[in-house]
Amino acid sequence: MTEALYELTIHDALADMRRGEFTAVELTQALLERITELDGTVKAYLTVTAERALDQAAAADARRSRGEDAPLLGVPLAIKDVLATKGVRTTCGSRILENFVPPYTATAVARLEEAGMVMLGKTNTDEFAMGSSTENSGFFTTRNPWDLNRVPGGSSGGSAAAVAAQEAVAALGTDTGGSVRLPASYCGIVGLKPSYGRISRFGLVAYGSSLDQVGILAKDVRDAALLLTIMAGHDRCDSTSLSHPVPTYTSALIDDVKGLRIGLPKEYFIEGMQPEVETAVRAAVSHLESMGARIVPISLPNTDKALPVYYLVAPAEASANLARYDGVRFGYSAGAGSMFENFRQSRGYGFGPEVKRRIMLGTYALSAGYYDAYYLKAQQVRTLIKQDFERAFEEVDVIACPVAPTTAFKIGEKADNPLEMYLSDAFTITLNLAGMCGISVPCGFDQNNLPIGLQLIGPHLGEEVVLRTAYAYERTTTWHERRPNPAPVEQS
Ligand code: GLN
Repeated sequence: MTEALYELTIHDALADMRRGEFTAVELTQALLERITELDGTVKAYLTVTAERALDQAAAADARRSRGEDAPLLGVPLAIKDVLATKGVRTTCGSRILENFVPPYTATAVARLEEAGMVMLGKTNTDEFAMGSSTENSGFFTTRNPWDLNRVPGGSSGGSAAAVAAQEAVAALGTDTGGSVRLPASYCGIVGLKPSYGRISRFGLVAYGSSLDQVGILAKDVRDAALLLTIMAGHDRCDSTSLSHPVPTYTSALIDDVKGLRIGLPKEYFIEGMQPEVETAVRAAVSHLESMGARIVPISLPNTDKALPVYYLVAPAEASANLARYDGVRFGYSAGAGSMFENFRQSRGYGFGPEVKRRIMLGTYALSAGYYDAYYLKAQQVRTLIKQDFERAFEEVDVIACPVAPTTAFKIGEKADNPLEMYLSDAFTITLNLAGMCGISVPCGFDQNNLPIGLQLIGPHLGEEVVLRTAYAYERTTTWHERRPNPAPVEQS
């Protein structure tokens, strides 16, 4: 059976276009048609840039017909709407930026465009990337293509749903505490969070600046490695971007894990987690062992402190970062008479409840008299969490564990209980606090046919070993080949 064009991976689509089997315009049209057919149901996109995409695709075809090539020439991707795109509305899922059109493009996106990408549009997200389900979007909730009554995960839920529903070949997300890996796991695709500083944050609207990192949502590990190679590397516009040389990550993809030491942290298999998740992850680890890896039981003793630390550090940074939305310089303005009244009304209307909660938490943690007790203490414990990982990586090459304690939950199930919602990040936030890298790869399904993700964690700048392990696993399993079949719902 021949595959429909929208079903292709990046590497297959490129190979086919290079052979002249179809054009970038045809591929882009196939994806735009898929979006038209399904996105009324899945709701992955906040903005679809159809005309712009077709222009970019035609330009890619013209380049190819002149004998030129580029690493992504004519490949249609989706971009999470927290990454600035010149001339294209960038909302961050917030009403305060509903009509904001940035005057510049994020470096990560610019590098993809220089490599020949076609941008299909901007995807839905929890407001300012704060959330785990996309229910905190100021506009609408994205649906999980495997079960439309469930969340796709968050905050990059729009990007994950778009890739899983094959409304984009791959997508960019961002990961401050799990926002790439969690939705990848809930949607049954690959999600890569690179090490802090590996990809420039210039033009990524700041949430928690010491945690934020651009990440990748893809159909397979090869596509993730390709996109990382294109985007990684120093950028003079972001002083925290690292100048370490960028390997060709696709060359790390050897499907051999013989002798690799894989750590299994006991703190990531906890009471109360969904038994099918534990079973699937343990089976994946045994699979890697049968391929020649050595499994080493390890301990990351400060894991239980990660959630409280994260929910001090992230809101503290967010409260400072979000001060710029003042109803004066850009974004929504209530136009009220006095300055303070205008602040109050603009921010009161523009921000949703979760963002307000984070601003209050963060402002409190940073306030005089509480700073030492909360923010400073959290930073100290953060160091302990980082040291846990550093010690573990003296003994092992990579760490294997679940991405999340459960599979995708129902829309509304946790919406009224922020603490419950925060718990879905228990296994993902640790490595943001430590600056490490990690990936989510599909490793099974539960009895409701919902995907389960295996998380592989590597040391700082250890992307190659993470990608290699994930690739070896993927090459010898078929979980990543399964796709959901979301039926279009008639719109009344
Ligand atoms: N769910 C976490 C939060 O709400 C992580 C979000 C993210 O990684 N952007 O902060």
